[in-house]
Amino acid sequence: MDRSATMRAIRSKNTAPERLVRSTLHRLGYRFRLHAADLPGKPDIILRPRRAVIFVHGCFWHGHGCARGGRAPKTNRDYWERKIARNRERDAEILSKISALGYRCLTLWECGLKDEAALAAQLKAFLTE
Ligand SMILES: [Zn+2]
Repeated sequence: MDRSATMRAIRSKNTAPERLVRSTLHRLGYRFRLHAADLPGKPDIILRPRRAVIFVHGCFWHGHGCARGGRAPKTNRDYWERKIARNRERDAEILSKISALGYRCLTLWECGLKDEAALAAQLKAFLTE
C-alpha cells in the first residue's frame, strides 16, 4: 500500500477491526451506539447504561508498541513521528477526560483482534466488571 492508501485505511470509520468488535458485541447480546459525538474523542463504541466506552485503534496511527505500530513510512519520517507522538498525547488526554466523566475505557488495538474468542472474553470481562 502506498502511504495515502495506508492513511485512508487507518483514518476511515467502520474499519474491519471496528466491525469485528461490533459483531462480537452483538453476538454477546450487548447494545451500544457508535461514535458518540458528545464525548471527548468521539469513542468508537459507547455503552451508555454501563458507562463504558471502547476505542478501536489502528496500530500505526495511534503509535502502538507492536511491530506494525513501529513501521514509520520511509518518506517524511520526522513528520510522521511527530504526528503520531501528538496522536498518542491526545489519546491519553481523551482517556483522562472520559474517565473524569465517570466512564470506563477499553482500548483495543487492531493487532490484538485476530482471535475472536479471545476478543469476546476480553469484552465480557470489561463489561461485567
Ligand atoms: Zn499493535
